[in-house]
Amino acid sequence: MFEMMTGMINNIFFIIFPIILYQMFAATGKRNFFVSHRVMLTILFSISIILCMIFPYQFMTDDYIFDLRQVPMIVGALYGGPLVSAVLFLVSAIGRVFIGGDGMYIAILNQLLIAVGVPLLRPQYLRMKQLSKTLLVFGITIVSLLFNLVAGYVFFGDPIHDLIGIWLILMLNHGTIIVLTALLIEHIQRQEYLLNSLVKHEKIETVSHFAASVAHELRNPMQSIKGFVQLLQSHEYNRDKQVEFHDIILKELNDAESLIDDYLVFAKPTYGQLESVMVDEEISQVIKVTKPYASWQNVELQLLHTCEKCRVVADRQKFHQALVNIIRNGIEAMTTGGTLSIGVSNMQSSILIEIKDEGLGMTKEQVQRLGEPYFSTKTKGTGLGMMVVYSIIHQMNGTIEVDSEKGKGTIFKLYLPAADSLEEG
Ligand code: ADP
Ligand code: MG
Repeated sequence: MFEMMTGMINNIFFIIFPIILYQMFAATGKRNFFVSHRVMLTILFSISIILCMIFPYQFMTDDYIFDLRQVPMIVGALYGGPLVSAVLFLVSAIGRVFIGGDGMYIAILNQLLIAVGVPLLRPQYLRMKQLSKTLLVFGITIVSLLFNLVAGYVFFGDPIHDLIGIWLILMLNHGTIIVLTALLIEHIQRQEYLLNSLVKHEKIETVSHFAASVAHELRNPMQSIKGFVQLLQSHEYNRDKQVEFHDIILKELNDAESLIDDYLVFAKPTYGQLESVMVDEEISQVIKVTKPYASWQNVELQLLHTCEKCRVVADRQKFHQALVNIIRNGIEAMTTGGTLSIGVSNMQSSILIEIKDEGLGMTKEQVQRLGEPYFSTKTKGTGLGMMVVYSIIHQMNGTIEVDSEKGKGTIFKLYLPAADSLEEG
């Protein structure tokens, strides 16, 4: 009995472990378990299957040994789809051939049925409510065990009625474990979904917050264009003068256009590829987007020094968002205006981006709470901006240092790993 328990617990551990590993190392903000890390998870689940097969356990009677390999197979097929299912089938079939014995063909046939049948149920499964999902995985497990039982009777004449009690308990046992596994995955997905929608929420908030200042900033070129058009309408100017006015009008239109473009680039949803980006280009882009908001709050943006060939690997949109969130906080901390300065420097293997404001500053406790969701000292704050910053910078394998003094101001220092400059060629 004791051995059976340890054997079973080992098997459960083999299954749960890769899922926990995934939870720890998968980048936050990815939506679907398996979709973003398919290869990694296929490997981890294959290891689960192999371990389960190497360390099976005896269940109630000495005649039968069992293992839980069908749990990763079924769960893998449901969440990963046909391709993952096919790979997991190959792994378990090859493993089963090595074990050998009478039951080999039945076992492999059973695995084949799981590998082919379960992915067919996947589209419906993914749309189901939690209770239906639970019932379905439980049902699949029961059917698969029933198949083994009936096949054993048909091919080897195993007496069903002698064993039915054991099989019932076994079904309950396997069913419970697979349900718990599926629930764990569902829980992880829900967490990820939640985090994702928080990040999106913060983005929308920033975009709509900036809209007023962008509109304000557009008023200037509009008014100047209007003025010149009125002049051209009311007077007869000579050709030279007309050309001069047209040039001014064109320049103002270009400015307005590029302001709108920058804003739209920033407003785009943040799902992109990792690429090697030039830090100074990105910074000047971000300064363009935040400038209207800064001047609206009487804050001057200053680029102190930059690093011309410095590159980092980043999802461009997310990188922008992190910088904008920090700059926005700096601007908002300077309630009576001031200067926000930005500097980029090269520190051999890493790039340092410093963002310094002369604002309210923070206490030690406040600095410690930075990045905590919903921590905000502003009446209309979301308290999500810094959480987004931390999650983006950590995804880039960077670190954040904060120096702040109450009443004096704050410096944010971002250390980001430098991308290989060799890539350029
Ligand atoms: P929000 O800006 O919506 O309040 P954030 O996550 O962006 O949320 O910031 C959380 C809190 O951290 C702010 O409410 C503020 O108290 C503090 N904070 C962040 N950046 C600064 C800064 N540069 N100067 C002073 N306080 C800051
Ligand atoms: Mg903020």
